[in-house]
Amino acid sequence: MGKIGGFMEYDRVNSATICEEERIKNFNEFHGMLSLEEEKKQAARCMDCGVPFCQAGRMISGMASGCPLNNLVPETNDLVYRGNLADAYRRLAITHSFPEFTSRVCPALCEAACTCGEYSEPVCTKENEKTIIEYAFEHGLVKERKSDIRTGKKVAVVGSGPSGLAAAQLLNRRGHEVTVYERHDRVGGLLRYGIPNMKLDKSVIDRRVKLMEEAGVTFITGKDIGKDISAEELSSKYDAVVLACGASNPRDIKAPGRDAKGIYFAVDFLGRVTKQLLDSEFKEFPYEMAKDKDVVIIGGGDTGNDCVGTCIRLGAKSVTQLEMMPQPPVERAANNPWPEWPRVLKTDYGQEEAIYKFGHDPRIYQTTVKEFIKDKKGELKELCIVSLKPEKDEKTGRMNMVPVEGSEKIIPAQLVLIAAGFLGSEIYVTDAFGVELDGRTNVKTAEGSYKSSKDNVYVVGDMHRGQSLVVWAIAEGRKAAAEIDKNLMGYTNL
Ligand SMILES: Cc1cc2nc3c(=O)[nH]c(=O)nc-3n(C[C@H](O)[C@H](O)[C@H](O)COP(=O)(O)OP(=O)(O)OC[C@H]3O[C@@H](n4cnc5c(N)ncnc54)[C@H](O)[C@@H]3O)c2cc1C
Ligand code: SF4
Repeated sequence: MGKIGGFMEYDRVNSATICEEERIKNFNEFHGMLSLEEEKKQAARCMDCGVPFCQAGRMISGMASGCPLNNLVPETNDLVYRGNLADAYRRLAITHSFPEFTSRVCPALCEAACTCGEYSEPVCTKENEKTIIEYAFEHGLVKERKSDIRTGKKVAVVGSGPSGLAAAQLLNRRGHEVTVYERHDRVGGLLRYGIPNMKLDKSVIDRRVKLMEEAGVTFITGKDIGKDISAEELSSKYDAVVLACGASNPRDIKAPGRDAKGIYFAVDFLGRVTKQLLDSEFKEFPYEMAKDKDVVIIGGGDTGNDCVGTCIRLGAKSVTQLEMMPQPPVERAANNPWPEWPRVLKTDYGQEEAIYKFGHDPRIYQTTVKEFIKDKKGELKELCIVSLKPEKDEKTGRMNMVPVEGSEKIIPAQLVLIAAGFLGSEIYVTDAFGVELDGRTNVKTAEGSYKSSKDNVYVVGDMHRGQSLVVWAIAEGRKAAAEIDKNLMGYTNL
């Protein structure tokens, strides 16, 4: 596994990124790749630690630790160290459907659980993954397999995000006839119209979808199931239906003045930006959406960070990100030991760009909006924000964030983007299929199963587990494919 003692010989090195000054001029990806020689050294740091938590994909203290796909991390690292990228790809492809997506956008749960990371820097497994998959594409190794023996069974997948794509890939590979329905004009779900292009170039999705089409998967875009095509019609035409519709019901901010013009949900905003860029082949940047505006983003998480980076590229005058919770510690707290997911301060690319452009971190912690203030035309002009402090609810024992009296402040804002999370799946789809929901409006299944309360209807990804990550969506799509295959055929080899 890597080089014996390699972790003592070599320090972690990350690939270079294009500097803030240059990268904010466009929406291109800005992460480079390590040379093969450097990559081998990085893989050599994998230390044969006996119990590789990196590939465990376990929940510890309610948080995921290690890769949910159970990628064979020490084995692929070893093959990279030996320069055998072709075999490394073959090994990676056993557990993974789309390494080209995760190697760009995954928060690398594997690295957070890496034994090297307990005392030093973890092995750069995510970078290794990118080297492997890009080598495999470059050398024609990535092929979508299609079974010559067709089963005669038909499966509809509703939604073309990573969970739907993963389920479609494996079910098609097994010989079922798979049709993916997508309500948007392009395939990809949040990979397409959520995650900005600078994090995931959209040609990376097109490259994979083309292979899947050639292998027999049918994609039908611009069809909203439950509206354009009824749930009954779909269920009657297919032997199984996979709901992979995401958790796209955004959490709103209820404060006076919410009806002001200039307030958008983050995902709608990000999707519109990407659509205009794609429609114009990156010739038209939708500057009008943010140029010269004071932008306030409500939500200090990853989606908020994507909004920061996007608004800076669109020429915003100022960008502020409000976060309700206190600033996390810089290092792991005593109650958050390795290999738990580290709850520490992360300064992401958008925040780095804001620091470069405006000279300070855009995040204001323990703060929320008390009122949206509009002008006579109903357009947003300012926000009244208020500080928050933690206070224990005596009845439940839970800590709540409550307003600090007299801490109100007025700040300019002509554009507000709400990135405050999601409240589960959209009700028109779940109503149309008549599937049972859990308390968080996710579609309910038995533990370890993807079968809904309706006989031939399955559910995967964010619609099943709530707002999550691309790697979990892919993992769920793959596991559901195996369950569906078994129920259709009596056994499965997926
Ligand atoms: C802005 C943003 C940035 C993110 N960045 C990251 C990141 O960097 N890394 C990471 O790991 N995760 C990230 N995530 C989370 C990640 O994108 C999701 O967890 C993942 O995409 C969920 O996949 P999914 O297949 O379940 O659903 P989705 O990707 O949401 O796809 C669902 C698809 O179903 C379609 N659909 C819904 N209803 C219907 C219907 N009735 N008929 C037809 N089609 C329908 C939708 O249009 C959509 O295309 C981000 C999320 C957001 C919002
Ligand atoms: S998919 Fe994510 S967690 Fe899994 S090995 Fe790749 S980077 Fe790590």
